[in-house]
Amino acid sequence: MIPIIDFDRLIEQHLRRESWPKTPGRYYPSEIGGCMRKIWYSYKYPVEIDSDRIKIFHLGNMLHDFIVDVLKSEKTPEVELLNSEVPFKIQIGEITVSGRVDDLLLVKAERKEYLVEVKSTKWLEGAKEPNTVHEMQLQMYMHGLGVYNGLLLYLEKNTLKSNVFEIPYKPALAQEALKRFRALHEHVTQDKLPLPKARLQDALRWQCSYCDYREKCEQEGQRKNI
Ligand code: SF4
Repeated sequence: MIPIIDFDRLIEQHLRRESWPKTPGRYYPSEIGGCMRKIWYSYKYPVEIDSDRIKIFHLGNMLHDFIVDVLKSEKTPEVELLNSEVPFKIQIGEITVSGRVDDLLLVKAERKEYLVEVKSTKWLEGAKEPNTVHEMQLQMYMHGLGVYNGLLLYLEKNTLKSNVFEIPYKPALAQEALKRFRALHEHVTQDKLPLPKARLQDALRWQCSYCDYREKCEQEGQRKNI
């Protein structure tokens, strides 16, 4: 039977959005801890985000709004939300690094300010320790905003259970991120393909399972034997 209202179609229409090619010189903290070759491909060969992935992103945003409600609630007086969706921008020579910090949270008990990055996950057991990509993102925010305490909050989508990790500021990791931005810019502007780091290291290879450019990357590897 054909439904009177096709809600799948309505949801897709509602979430549909234009995608724009990325601009060389403008980079993002959320990406910099990941495979540099993948980021490079995303500048050279932009791909449309399919409707299933747009829905997953939207669900993540809905969960983020839920955490904001929890932090703002009168029922949670031990924390105070100072700000959310804090814009972030730093300039490194001709490079602009910009993003948005999910929440700036003040924990009243310790009179201490924390930057909080919220990540939704479908499997909390898989988030038993901070993900290196997420940690580098948070280090970049702490470095740029001068708030030197971070929290990485993983929230399971279908249970609302969470794991939280306290992340102290590590200047060396923030410097490593800055170095990576410079290297990425050089590769993008000089049209030099970076090495497939994720594919070459056991601990990073999981990133290839979520990569839109896996086939292209492997073909390149066969050509050059890497
Ligand atoms: S397939 Fe792996 S190594 Fe290749 S670009 Fe993607 S993440 Fe990087």
